[in-house]
Amino acid sequence: MFGYFKRRKRERYLAGNPIPDSLWQRVINLPLFIGLTDYEHNRLRQHAAWFLHEKTITAVGGLALTDEMRVLLAAQASLPILHLGFDAYDDWHEVILYPGQFVSRDRYTDRSGLVHEYEQVLAGQARSDGPVLLSWMDVNESPWLDGWNVVIHEFAHKLDMRSGEANGCPPLHKGMSYEAWKRAFSRAYDDLVMRADQDHYSPIDLYAAENPAECFAVFSEYFFETPHAIADHYPAVYAQLCAFYKQDPLARLPRVRYRPAFEPVSFGPVVPTPAPGVWL
Ligand SMILES: [Zn+2]
Repeated sequence: MFGYFKRRKRERYLAGNPIPDSLWQRVINLPLFIGLTDYEHNRLRQHAAWFLHEKTITAVGGLALTDEMRVLLAAQASLPILHLGFDAYDDWHEVILYPGQFVSRDRYTDRSGLVHEYEQVLAGQARSDGPVLLSWMDVNESPWLDGWNVVIHEFAHKLDMRSGEANGCPPLHKGMSYEAWKRAFSRAYDDLVMRADQDHYSPIDLYAAENPAECFAVFSEYFFETPHAIADHYPAVYAQLCAFYKQDPLARLPRVRYRPAFEPVSFGPVVPTPAPGVWL
């Protein structure tokens, strides 16, 4: 019954608050959204409108946030959940947007109990304790078909975290097999680790060889932008991702040349966060 009222509330809101045409047209014509059907366009627009209603987007570091920026972020964030339903994002509430890449300070405790602090310069971070942090410059660079998309990457981590800590295995749908998922991803991961160790060419960014969570997030970026790179080299992973995201981007996107593996380029100023574990 609760689900029914929730759905009704959402439908009422969406009927009265569509994303304006002028704004939507500027975003939906970007390469990332090529080949979506009219039904999927409408659904994406509704998901994006609901995303903007439900999630708080906080701009920091002097970033001036416009409606077009908000819609560009929301549309990209909504693509992975297009056929999963909006509830897939219902366990977190906030996106924090930096002008450029930012310094994230974190702590970890080693085996002897000592607490260490460390810093990383990042384009995005999905925090297990809440928000998603993103660099606007990188969000803006993301909706091209080059296999690199910080929005899809971080929101894939959020989907992964629905089963606890990100480990490369999100909760799977009824009818999917954990066995088959693990087999497909383990083989691909081992192959990528070998390519990284031996300095071999890789069709997939070797950041995927960092750990299984990054493997799933990086494969998700390629899935939505250069699906041929996965289908040609890791067809079992492609099949699992089709079943998980309930989409087949291979059928709608043009074949583009794979980009060689490289580290994301840093754009814009690096904004420090003020204290360990604090990101505002
Ligand atoms: Zn990641």
